[in-house]
Amino acid sequence: MSRQSISKKRINTQILVILMFCTLAMSGQSFSQWEERSAAIMGTNIRAEVYHESEQLRNQALSAVMMQMEEINQLMSPYIDSSELSLLNREAATRKVVVSDELFYLLALSARLSELTKGAFDITFASVGYMYDYKEQQRPDQAQIDGKLQAIDYRHVQLDPANNSVRFAHHDLKIDLGGIAKGYAVDLAIERLKALGIEHALVTAGGDTRLLGDRLGKPWIVGIRDPRDEEKQAVVIPLESAAMSTSGDYERYFEEDGKRYHHIISPRTGESVYEVQSVSIIGPESVYNDALSTAVFVMGLENGIGLINGLPEFEAIVMDNERRMHYSSGLQQ
Ligand code: ADP
Ligand code: MG
Repeated sequence: MSRQSISKKRINTQILVILMFCTLAMSGQSFSQWEERSAAIMGTNIRAEVYHESEQLRNQALSAVMMQMEEINQLMSPYIDSSELSLLNREAATRKVVVSDELFYLLALSARLSELTKGAFDITFASVGYMYDYKEQQRPDQAQIDGKLQAIDYRHVQLDPANNSVRFAHHDLKIDLGGIAKGYAVDLAIERLKALGIEHALVTAGGDTRLLGDRLGKPWIVGIRDPRDEEKQAVVIPLESAAMSTSGDYERYFEEDGKRYHHIISPRTGESVYEVQSVSIIGPESVYNDALSTAVFVMGLENGIGLINGLPEFEAIVMDNERRMHYSSGLQQ
């Protein structure tokens, strides 16, 4: 090897080291202004990332996100006996029950979304849905489903805005907000961040993600996982100041005789639906995305994408049961 090539190599190495050092120093600087926190709340993984110069404010902001999630959980969890939702399911069939503004708002919005989706999104699915236990691999038989199917109808939930009261017009009625409450909580968390002066953040609760601003001059990259491979992303999407929710048949399910019993239930049949494997909805707010992703899953490919094509603020990405991807009209060039 000649002397010249050795010294060239040395210089190249020096440049590389300097470059690496600069990159580390720069990323160190911006990384130190980002802070991240995760917690297990609402039966799912909550994660938030915020950007701010003040470390104190970053920590305050992350605590505010987690407190918001916990508040909604305490109000709306079907697994907490003292939640307002549990109280409704125990007593609203026999008397008018007065609830918080938050729960009343979400019940009213759920009713509007049931109208919009022609009953595909319906929180009263739980009248049958409560008989499924995915962890315990339990499901109702046909006679049990038939016995409760009449109770499923969002019109049975009577709301009186004069005093925030709720009455169930069917004795077997049960509700569950699993298809909308996480999205709502994400929106409330983002509002809290804005109020604290945060301008760049990500909040995600299971399949519901909302982004405040961008990632400092770059978009956020949000993934849709492969429904049959936890390790793989089916699609990644750059987004800023927007939100995306995904509903999939892989979140909660068990298999029996080769059939997958999963947590998205047709209000018409009281059983899981099989036309698609995953639905993602992109739109301005998580509460709508969350409910619409569940609804489009139930409606299936054609009706579901048809619904979204009629809503200018929303886009859909659907993987059908043969793993083909489909996009709403706004995503097709
Ligand atoms: P997750 O983010 O938990 O996967 P999804 O947004 O995919 O939730 O919604 C699934 C949840 O929605 C179910 O676990 C159940 O609580 C609720 N759900 C299931 N079917 C319906 C339906 N037809 N209408 C409204 N909510 C539903
Ligand atoms: Mg949903």
